[in-house]
Amino acid sequence: MRKKERELTDPGEVESVIKRAVVCRIALSDNNVPYLVPVNFGYQDGCLYIHTAREGMKIDMIRRNDRVCFEVEADLELTKGATACKWGMRYRSVIGFGRASLVEDSEGKRAALDIIMRHYSDDPHEYSEKLMEKVAIIRVEIDTMTGKQSGF
Ligand SMILES: Cc1cc2nc3c(=O)[nH]c(=O)nc-3n(C[C@H](O)[C@H](O)[C@H](O)COP(=O)(O)OP(=O)(O)OC[C@H]3O[C@@H](n4cnc5c(N)ncnc54)[C@H](O)[C@@H]3O)c2cc1C
Repeated sequence: MRKKERELTDPGEVESVIKRAVVCRIALSDNNVPYLVPVNFGYQDGCLYIHTAREGMKIDMIRRNDRVCFEVEADLELTKGATACKWGMRYRSVIGFGRASLVEDSEGKRAALDIIMRHYSDDPHEYSEKLMEKVAIIRVEIDTMTGKQSGF
């Protein structure tokens, strides 16, 4: 990272940004064509979990190339200034790299759905068989990630 003073060096702080983020952007690539897609997600033990339809462009791309990059952010605030240069953005963000795979077994899918739901809600949730048939789960095993903050 060029501006070292902005790096979040405490792994706990990096995880805290992930846990507070609402949306995750997953970057995929296939045949030299990039594709960035925003999704809701859950995080546990170094893995991201995403629920999705069983078909579509991102699933097709992951099947062909499992390498992904992701970005999440928290604590966003636009800061105004007297001149254009004094305007800014407070943020904490995380960018990481990993490998995506599809969770196929129903026990793993239910566990992943629980992780995703717990990201947004403290309430317990049930998943019908019909939903389980329709849903696919993407698991991203994170290899490396960095955290950065600005404006604090
Ligand atoms: C805040 C937010 C949260 C979301 N959470 C989820 C989630 O948890 N799970 C989930 O599966 N999806 C979620 N979505 C929708 C997601 O961004 C995709 O639209 C969806 O997953 C379909 O992706 P796909 O690759 O299967 O697209 P396909 O249906 O195969 O369509 C591919 C084509 O549609 C275009 N396209 C796809 N998505 C978008 C988009 N979001 N905006 C504009 N054009 C698009 C692409 O450019 C491409 O040309 C969320 C979207 C937003 C904005």
